[in-house]
Amino acid sequence: MNVRDALRQTRERLQASGVDEPGFEAEYLLRYVLDCTRESILLDLDTDISPSAQCHFDSLVGRRAAGEPSAYITGHKEFYGLDFKVDPRALIPRPETELLVEMALDFASRRSTGGNGLTIVDVGTGCGTIAIAIATHLPGASIIATDISPDALQLAYENAARHDVQDRVTLLHGDLFAHLPRPIDILVSNPPYIPSTELPNLAREITHHEPRLALDGGPDGMAVIHRLIEQAKDNLSPSGAMFIEIGWDQGERAMSRAQHLWPNSQASITPDLAGLDRILTIRPPVPSALPV
Ligand code: GLN
Repeated sequence: MNVRDALRQTRERLQASGVDEPGFEAEYLLRYVLDCTRESILLDLDTDISPSAQCHFDSLVGRRAAGEPSAYITGHKEFYGLDFKVDPRALIPRPETELLVEMALDFASRRSTGGNGLTIVDVGTGCGTIAIAIATHLPGASIIATDISPDALQLAYENAARHDVQDRVTLLHGDLFAHLPRPIDILVSNPPYIPSTELPNLAREITHHEPRLALDGGPDGMAVIHRLIEQAKDNLSPSGAMFIEIGWDQGERAMSRAQHLWPNSQASITPDLAGLDRILTIRPPVPSALPV
């Protein structure tokens, strides 16, 4: 079979199985099997696919049609221009989380050259994307990345080594701020924030394959966000900041929680590229003027 027919048949098969963007997914999997770029596949539509490549492709398409996410099938996901190893030990990185990295890097660059001297922490690092992306862009920074899941930390280590930042990304097993040094200058986190009752309604790619621990934010989705704000009060440097990813409908609630849990702190919400509430930023209260 040639590339054109393989793409067409696969698109139809994936579409019939209820897969989103079936044309893109078919091409992505075929490019992975043939180990080629988008340009070359489109230039070679008449090329025949070898029987062994065809057989490999069919088995991957079968997994995709059954609902397994492409990133787990290929073991790769790009995030912030870097290639990460991904598997069911941790959540697949999402493009909207890149904003968290961008905001942390912007804040860091206004405080230090190359991140030197800053204590930067990524709480709930998963496969390590946020910490590793920050480390690769701040050559002077040391970053502590924590997770409650030992499996996720193992994967994060593999990714840190892949990007040669394993000496500057310290992985710590623990819950939220446990065992962390203080004060922290920059805290970033993509915590679980989906309400428990909504989990069964998410796409099967998520509910049947990604770790529940990385998604389940308790009854209203904000249990971990709540604890992060509470603990940040005692751990954040007076000139520091925390950046937390939130759900698209949690902006208002996150603001009022921040004001309630940490009175006078400076909280704001930043929307993602789709215009949806995405990042909660909190800075400690401005120190009051010294008495005269
Ligand atoms: N953004 C993810 C999703 O939509 C959720 C990530 C999280 O809970 N941190 O599935």
